[in-house]
Amino acid sequence: MQLINTFDFSRAILHIDGDSFFVLCEVAKNPKLRGKPVITGMERGIVSAFSYEAKARGVKRAMRISEVKKICPDAIFLPSDYETYSLFSLRMYDIVRKYTPDVEEYSIDECFADLTGLRRPLGMSYENMAAKIKKDLDSELGITFSVGLAPTKVLAKIGSKHKKPSGLTIIRGRDIDQYLNETPVSEVWGIGSQTSSFLHKFGIRSALQYAQKEERWVREKLTKPHFQIWQELRGESVYKIETSKKNDYKSISKTKTFTPASSNKEFVFSQLSKNVENACIKLRRYNLSVKKIFFFLKTQDFQYCGVEVKMSDATNTPNSILNIIDSHFEKIFDSSKLFRATGIILSDLSISQARQLDLFGKMEQEENFSKIFKKIDEISKKYGKHSVFLGTSFLAMNKKQHQSERGVQSERKLNLFNGETTRKKLYLPMLGEVR
Ligand SMILES: [Mg+2]
Repeated sequence: MQLINTFDFSRAILHIDGDSFFVLCEVAKNPKLRGKPVITGMERGIVSAFSYEAKARGVKRAMRISEVKKICPDAIFLPSDYETYSLFSLRMYDIVRKYTPDVEEYSIDECFADLTGLRRPLGMSYENMAAKIKKDLDSELGITFSVGLAPTKVLAKIGSKHKKPSGLTIIRGRDIDQYLNETPVSEVWGIGSQTSSFLHKFGIRSALQYAQKEERWVREKLTKPHFQIWQELRGESVYKIETSKKNDYKSISKTKTFTPASSNKEFVFSQLSKNVENACIKLRRYNLSVKKIFFFLKTQDFQYCGVEVKMSDATNTPNSILNIIDSHFEKIFDSSKLFRATGIILSDLSISQARQLDLFGKMEQEENFSKIFKKIDEISKKYGKHSVFLGTSFLAMNKKQHQSERGVQSERKLNLFNGETTRKKLYLPMLGEVR
């Protein structure tokens, strides 16, 4: 039953998805890990990503590390190394851009690309282009990707999911029905659990049953985005490739190791404070604010302890964040241990909004902080990063990061507390001094 697109490729859209990306990046970095049950996310104490070998042993996402040890005692746990993963990610986009400028950086391990119109200039079929791009990615990065080629983004997504790992699935116009028939409607990109339960009530279980519904029914019963998904499933391309560089980071992380390891509470906190300042500089550069914060301390013997905190309001100023994490730091810091690194991961990021004033002046205060940091960013542009920094970062700024290096502190750097180093005089005095 041919219902939909009669052309094989009215458009040729590619979706590329890294196979258990974080773990394969780790394996590419250290080939000795190949074929082993490898798990990342050690710093959180829960599984973040895992290898296919770990999957075969029953390991699941978000499982506690202690549970994993029971079912898979030989599992290898690694801390997440976002710097490395984002480097692999940038190389992935660059390889695809050798073929087409129309690349959408969808997430750290996924991208879309529009190949439409390139058959003649590249002298090959769309199928061969897809195979060639996959081959380049796999061989140049040393990790595997699953690829879908189809006339629309929604169909290309179904394609890349169809066969994992290392699959190449081509959905031509004439194949659409068959693939949709095999795909549960709940697995279609953009259809959430509420919409699929709603569709189930009308006996719609497969993506094909959804695509076969009359246009009027879809328009009346569902929202516009769902109508667009319906069009895309039928092979009509309505979602464009967003080629503008993504500045909506999924997360921002800053980690710094220091030597020698330290059990000095003020010093370890100052390292964390410096990471928070750096992460916030990046947030503000992209006009973003954060709601979810995860910070951790790493001990000399590579043990991690960390806490996740949610902010009641999105922020991009380091003092608001430090204010919140201070009490959690107190709880996890143990002066009988030596620490060698601190780190912070900011997630749940959104574009910074102009704030409404609230009754209690809390927002007004945050607004004032925002203004101050805008000025600090201007000063840093002129005189260099960390020309002005928080008192809480003083010890970290003033001391060498590693024994063998020079410190970053120089004469013209201005510490907002004039060298005041106690953590208890943290944040608010700053407002008084700067105003
Ligand atoms: Mg993936």
